[in-house]
Amino acid sequence: MKIARIKVYQIDLPLHEGKYSWSEGKYVDVFDSTVVEIETDEGVTGYGEVCPLGPAYLPAYARGVRAGIEELAPALVGDDPRQLSVINHKMDRELKGHPYVKSAIDMALWDILGKVARMPVCELLGGRYSEDVQLYRAISQRPADEMAQNVAEYRAEGYRRFQLKVGGHPDEDIARIVAVRDVLEPGDKLIADANTGWLMHEAMRVINAVKDVDVYIEQPCSSYEECLSIRRNTTLPFVLDEVIDSTGAILQGASDGGMDVVNIKISKFGGLTRAKQARDLCVSLGIAMTLEDSWGGDIVTAAIAHLAQGTPTEFQFTSTDFNSYVTTSIAEGAPQRSGGRMSASADPGLGIRPRMEVLGDPVWTSG
Ligand code: MG
Repeated sequence: MKIARIKVYQIDLPLHEGKYSWSEGKYVDVFDSTVVEIETDEGVTGYGEVCPLGPAYLPAYARGVRAGIEELAPALVGDDPRQLSVINHKMDRELKGHPYVKSAIDMALWDILGKVARMPVCELLGGRYSEDVQLYRAISQRPADEMAQNVAEYRAEGYRRFQLKVGGHPDEDIARIVAVRDVLEPGDKLIADANTGWLMHEAMRVINAVKDVDVYIEQPCSSYEECLSIRRNTTLPFVLDEVIDSTGAILQGASDGGMDVVNIKISKFGGLTRAKQARDLCVSLGIAMTLEDSWGGDIVTAAIAHLAQGTPTEFQFTSTDFNSYVTTSIAEGAPQRSGGRMSASADPGLGIRPRMEVLGDPVWTSG
């Protein structure tokens, strides 16, 4: 089997809430997502998706995805799409860095492998540990009372894990954490995600003020060293996200006792192949994970479900269903949330069928 052609599609994904805001005044109102279609010479076609959280979150941006794929894809035409490690190795030799560019390609290769093997991707990634996986809801940054109201509404829909977007003014963030914890019940989990938005003195003020609140602190500051300093000054459970972008970063964090939970975003690692590697390392090290991506629609959500479901249940801290945040459905068969949980399709591959009328014409096709 050979890769015959690679096509790229661009899709706008507006939000039900109109706007998603996080630390330091950053926001996105329409997500710019990229879908990759890989055709083979045997009639099997695979799909992948990548959607950066705007250009100011990680070192990734939407037009960079498409420019990078145009750079990389011609070298992959003619290769056997089932040889995932070989292709990942080649992608790293052809294009240094830029893991997010490789993510949708790798995701599409897993879709092909599953279709060829007639198995869902989660089973190829290790199996199906549970019926479904628990979701968190990201709560866009707003005044404290509005965020508490949003949490109460999403709780009524079945969510039991909430990731509050803080990383603003410390006094306002303290009020946000306290107000939201007030509307939760025992057993619910609250994560205050500063998304690198605090300086160390600001983070110290927040962790001291909420030291008796049942809350996780996520990625308070920009660098690993700053986060580690805060970690060593708090007894609150501690999550690292933005700085966990490689197996090396996981090993460093584990060696320092730098975190209790890490966020494995598929595109941050460069696709499902590398995310699986990171996931399995975390299991070996005893570190729980949020398994997710930077953002996305139905195809990313399907990939998240497969990665999470192939993960031992006790290591699945949370995942998220990005397709429920956006107003546009790009594929049939993607996971649909039920009671704050979702499950991966039992169909072969990712189990999705793209809505070609929504994807429109490709913006780029390999020769
Ligand atoms: Mg985060």
